[in-house]
Amino acid sequence: MTRQVKVKDVIIGGGAPVPVQSMLNVPTSDASSALRQIVKLEKAGCDLVRLTVNDKEAAAALPEIVEKSHVPLIADIHFDYRLALAALEAGIAKLRINPGNIGDPKRTSMVAEAAGKKGIPIRIGVNSGSLREDVKKKILSGKLSLGEAMGRHALTETRQLEKCGFRDIVLSVKSSSVPETVRAYEFLHDNCDYPLHIGITEAGTVEDALLKSGAGLGHLLLKGIGDTIRISITGPVEKEAEAGRKLLQFLGLRPYGPEVISCPTCGRTQVPLEKTAEKVRSALKADKELRSFPCKVAVMGCVVNGPGEASAADAGLAGGKGYFLLFAKGESVRRVSPENAVGELLEELRLIKKRKC
Ligand code: SF4
Repeated sequence: MTRQVKVKDVIIGGGAPVPVQSMLNVPTSDASSALRQIVKLEKAGCDLVRLTVNDKEAAAALPEIVEKSHVPLIADIHFDYRLALAALEAGIAKLRINPGNIGDPKRTSMVAEAAGKKGIPIRIGVNSGSLREDVKKKILSGKLSLGEAMGRHALTETRQLEKCGFRDIVLSVKSSSVPETVRAYEFLHDNCDYPLHIGITEAGTVEDALLKSGAGLGHLLLKGIGDTIRISITGPVEKEAEAGRKLLQFLGLRPYGPEVISCPTCGRTQVPLEKTAEKVRSALKADKELRSFPCKVAVMGCVVNGPGEASAADAGLAGGKGYFLLFAKGESVRRVSPENAVGELLEELRLIKKRKC
């Protein structure tokens, strides 16, 4: 069990529900754009939002952003401790720094002391690129694995904060390699009790990023490792939040809303299944009553095997010749026309929801 830290009303660690994070990709100095993106992320289900504080202009925009954001914000700081102090002054809920690149340990102490007074946690975020040159040489010569090197480096950085009596720490050790990142987090899991922010960095555009993050984070989370997640994607930020929520739901860790399952189709398929599944997915996403109802909804290609194969689903559609069969928990409910199939499925789900509540 890891220690717990509080980021405003969001708890990280100690068995708390795993929060989903993402990061803004607009300049923080442009407060209106930053706030617009925060709202998008909030709607996509993001629990925590990080933003860069990379210059004085960004720091100057922070008070307005902090005041107007409903989601707790995390300031990402590199090199300049004064920006970390300014972010704390602006009311930021968490900091991400690397003591190693802040320089003089006295500066790190000043940040730790100011954060400690306000009860603000600090994430130490180590990436494969932030390792020392001598460590990189050891990795190249095969004397040390990248994963272990990142884990060890994170613990060394942690000591700097511990020396100041600061323990509200979250750790991350990310690389673009799934096996090395997994190794790094397993190392930390075995060697400290700090909560872990897990993610694969530089994971690529949507398809690759989802596969890499699903593989790496899925493996770790199923082993009970990981207290908050970010799925890094080169693409729209809200996709990161949506993917994070879905991953947690698929792993059975945090229910969010309907999960649509559909068969891979085969020679028995009687209907345009991909289109139908997409229609069901969009209709559920747009439905205010059902979009947060944690249930399993199936869209299957044939009536012969569909209802049975998807008997775990709360409700579903199976394609017949010129009709759909509406079914619930594997049992037939009634035949519906292709035009009304999605609407009837949603109505059935409303009834199921009423019965469950
Ligand atoms: S449910 Fe029917 S159509 Fe879909 S894969 Fe199974 S047998 Fe094929």
